[in-house]
Amino acid sequence: MHFDRLRLRGFKSFVEETDFTISPGLTGVVGPNGCGKSNLVEALRWVMGENSARQMRSGAMDDVIFAGTSTRPPRSFAEVVVTLGNPDRTAPPAYNDSPMLEISRRIDREAGSTYRINGREVRARDVQLLFADIATGAHSTAIVSQGRIGQLINARPVDRRRILEEAAGITGLHSRRHESELRLRAAEQNLERVDDVMRELE
Ligand code: ATP
Repeated sequence: MHFDRLRLRGFKSFVEETDFTISPGLTGVVGPNGCGKSNLVEALRWVMGENSARQMRSGAMDDVIFAGTSTRPPRSFAEVVVTLGNPDRTAPPAYNDSPMLEISRRIDREAGSTYRINGREVRARDVQLLFADIATGAHSTAIVSQGRIGQLINARPVDRRRILEEAAGITGLHSRRHESELRLRAAEQNLERVDDVMRELE
């Protein structure tokens, strides 16, 4: 799978709809300081389900919405759409029928985010798991931000292991296992409660 296209609307400094075609091979983004290069990388993290305002260099999640300038009013929403090509059908089984996947996230002021995969509304979790399964994602090692190399060198073994697991594409499995364990624990507690009730009735 590969990233084919990135579209932004009202996201940080990208007030007008801006469409980037991502060609195969190496892509470089060049421009003067403050022109929005890092905002582009943040848009990618954001559409993959990043939910930490700090990772987005923002105070609050709504801060990703274009805040306005002296000549332009602020926007009421921000939207990022990423298109992934799936010509060799390597997408996770739930999405593998389609030759391409379109993942979008939209945030409306004070109303939170809506995610869609190929037009169908999904949970943030579904988008995060999709990207975890294809070994990329908001926290993926495929996105190297400033200062990250130094952090890796100084990382504790347990953190380094997490990075290797992300690269191996098994982070999604860990996350599903954790959810299943929580559900199992809740079911066990319910059973204990049923036992108590039955004992009282006997
Ligand atoms: P540098 O090379 O200095 O790291 P850069 O090209 O990576 O810069 P960014 O950090 O991506 O630039 O962009 C910063 C610009 O984005 C600033 O001009 C800032 O005002 C603008 N910006 C950030 N958030 C918003 C927002 N919510 N609304 C409008 N503009 C924003």
